Amino acid sequence: MKKRQETTCAYCGVGCGVSAMVHDDRVIAVEGSTRHPANRGRLCVKGSALHETLDASARLLAPQVYGETVDWDRAISAVAKGFADVIRRHGPDSVAFYVSGQLLTEDYYVANKLLKGFIGTSNIDTNSRLCMSSAVAAQKRAFGSDTVPANYEDLDEADLLVLTGSNAAWTHPVLFQRMQAARTEAQKKGRKLKRMVVIDPRSTATAESADLHLALKPGTDAVLFNGLLVWLHRQDLTDSHFIERHTQGFTAALNTAERTAGSLKKVAAACDVPIEQVETFYQWAAQSPKMVTFYSMGINQSSSGVDKAHTIINLHLATGRIGKPGASPFSITGQPNAMGGREVGGLANQLAAHMNWDSPDDVNRVERFWRAPNMARGPGLAATDLFEAVGQGKIKAIWIMATNPVVSMPDADRVRAVLSACELVVVSDCMQHTDTLDMAHIKLPATGWSEKDGTVTNSERRISRQRALVKPMGQAKHDWWIITQVARAMGFAAGFPYQQPVDIFREHAQLSAYENNGSRDFDISLYADITPAEYDAMVPLQWPITQNAPMGTARLFGDGRFYTPEQSARFFPIVPQAPRHLPRANSSVSDSPFEFLLNTGRLRDQWHTMTRTGLADRLQQHMPEPRVYMHPDDAVRLQVSDQDWVQLDSARVAGEDIKARVVCSTSQRRGELFMPIHWTAQNSSHGRVGRLIPAHVDPISFQPELKHAVVQVQRWQPAQQGYIWLREALAEPPWDAWLKRTVAGVTVYQFAHSTLWRAATDLPQLMGGALLDEPMQVFEDLTRHSQRLVWGTADHRSAIAWVGQTLPEPDSRWVAECLKAGELNSQDRRDLLAGRSGGQVDPGPLVCSCHQVGEYTIRNAMRDDGINTVEGLGKQLKCGTQCGSCIPDLKRLIVSDRAVDAA
Ligand code: SF4
Repeated sequence: MKKRQETTCAYCGVGCGVSAMVHDDRVIAVEGSTRHPANRGRLCVKGSALHETLDASARLLAPQVYGETVDWDRAISAVAKGFADVIRRHGPDSVAFYVSGQLLTEDYYVANKLLKGFIGTSNIDTNSRLCMSSAVAAQKRAFGSDTVPANYEDLDEADLLVLTGSNAAWTHPVLFQRMQAARTEAQKKGRKLKRMVVIDPRSTATAESADLHLALKPGTDAVLFNGLLVWLHRQDLTDSHFIERHTQGFTAALNTAERTAGSLKKVAAACDVPIEQVETFYQWAAQSPKMVTFYSMGINQSSSGVDKAHTIINLHLATGRIGKPGASPFSITGQPNAMGGREVGGLANQLAAHMNWDSPDDVNRVERFWRAPNMARGPGLAATDLFEAVGQGKIKAIWIMATNPVVSMPDADRVRAVLSACELVVVSDCMQHTDTLDMAHIKLPATGWSEKDGTVTNSERRISRQRALVKPMGQAKHDWWIITQVARAMGFAAGFPYQQPVDIFREHAQLSAYENNGSRDFDISLYADITPAEYDAMVPLQWPITQNAPMGTARLFGDGRFYTPEQSARFFPIVPQAPRHLPRANSSVSDSPFEFLLNTGRLRDQWHTMTRTGLADRLQQHMPEPRVYMHPDDAVRLQVSDQDWVQLDSARVAGEDIKARVVCSTSQRRGELFMPIHWTAQNSSHGRVGRLIPAHVDPISFQPELKHAVVQVQRWQPAQQGYIWLREALAEPPWDAWLKRTVAGVTVYQFAHSTLWRAATDLPQLMGGALLDEPMQVFEDLTRHSQRLVWGTADHRSAIAWVGQTLPEPDSRWVAECLKAGELNSQDRRDLLAGRSGGQVDPGPLVCSCHQVGEYTIRNAMRDDGINTVEGLGKQLKCGTQCGSCIPDLKRLIVSDRAVDAA
């Protein structure tokens, strides 16, 4: 029988509610929950494909210890004994956990409790360190607590939305659409304009939708916000009443801002943007008391990320624009449960329930509450130092949960090397193949979305239930269960009596209330006695959630009361800092290889290291390969064109290279490149961009500078390249550069090779003899120096390849269908051997993933049918009508079409 259940999306910090349809222990459909305040029925393309990623063949289904499949008893015993043995020989600081913002709060709570209270070390850090730890540090310093004052309704209410360091149209699409809808609604009602300013070195989908885009020089955000503080003060638009009554340190912050960014001219020059744009931004800020500054990884992933966040907070404190409807600084998290992790103390420098290591009373309080036998006494190692300590042999056993640091950490090859030399590496994951699992001595199958059961907290402090919809696959177990079993096996049974997630959540709520009395922001005491039935029925609410605020708390700090000892907020004087390394200026073509500043980020349809989104066919099609975005003038200097290959080398370490094809785009500033972060060693030979990023960190937050790496770039010209569609993946792909994906159940390699081979005869040899005995048909295109090859019989094709010096992008899905099909009709056969796409009209690069509408189809509709609105395109082609994630791209196509017409 079909059953509908409410849960939460597994991906980003928006935390959308999902209404899932379950039938026969399978999730057969999902849609946005109309009851959830975060998304009100909307889902982005990733969320709407959640059920398409639940592939049993990709899952880790049983525990493995040193390569042997074992039962849970043996696996738990191996982990417990392994950790206990290392602790006995080297002490508690010789072990560590590296966990994830993808864990549920209950998982996080027990991991933190086991390590900090019972094993006796604080060496537990999380991949949230890479995402928002700078925002956390700035909030704690300025407010006395890690508090996000705002909520999503403020995005509707604000008259000025300032998005800085955020490509929300792709990374937080549901919030971005919400902002766009509010702007459209305001315009319809004839209210004054709701403006959007985007501050980003790149012209992203978000920037293209803005009223004003400041394409500033990377790393100069602090100058821009310091300048705005000075400018508003000179216009007498700071809030002296709020400053005097509720803050401290304003004069020092203002004086430093004056010194570093005292005039429009100085700001414009430092940020490398036209002075008129700076002035417009400042004037709009002056006219808009209802102003939200929405900031994310572009601010945080910097060696001065805390400083940048402070300049934003300084501005909001100086104007009193905080905790009021439509007025706040708003840090947005990337991970679905980054905030839940912070609630339980998931970062090494945090204690549980928003208590602090630097307060002996707090440490003592947590120790008493947990009845902890081995309470740690101070902060542990943050992510980069933690892996360095593994490399130095100080940490000898590490347990990595639900994350892939071999890909996502800076200096990623170093992380792989230190793990390969570590005495004991335990990895819990729901997937069977990840770069990090390849390093594990003990592999533990964890449950994933649709099986996990617990709570998550989104970017606006809203706690929601992520519910179990189906039974766990294979022998997969919940992370909290696995940790609890290991704790018991290590002799800590009394501290870990949990039978179900509600037992953990209840204890977490009790700790939040313990000796709190209003002294700490995180308080969910209303749940201190929650029953299983109440837990099942929980509705999404924003903390604090107490007897006095049983429906949660929409905003904080509107009353000017903060959590510092003086109950006032603190300004910080900020001297803006450049990124740690900058490229040398390339003045002539003799500067070879050229140095560039590399920025990294996310694509619209992918998430993290693609372990899940990579399983959904339609999510693979939007951008199927990791391209390097480059300004056309730089491409001319490098003598490359669109789709040519380049090689990126680290400017620091020899032999760490990336090979990828170029996208020439004026969306990039000259001298700067962009590459996506999602590719791994599982699906590419040279796409793992983290190997190029140095492990420079912010000195306060320890967040790595993932958005700034200096790289050397040169043209790479393969002698041959192509695509091959196979029924089985190859154990060792033989090409110099390759990418792998699955299309319609078929494995597709895109490859490039530096030496020339005769594809027909050499390709089977290269692939280790596979296909050698198969009948083969060859079509040689002498004019284009290319070949199409088909192996196998008409009834059973084994492989199809297109090989040439340069190749147009094939319709991969159609070729995959041809591979799987029986007898082909004569047209398909001719098309296949001629390298055409099945006689069909080429739809072009995919724009709308939901309805599979490509760019050429859209352009044809605009040209042939005169359609020039998003609504018109939606009516005719359905694009943009389901999740809406492609609407910015549709607008871009419409604008570019108008520009062509005007020319
Ligand atoms: Fe999930 Fe998309 Fe919502 Fe993020 S915006 S929570 S990825 S549906």
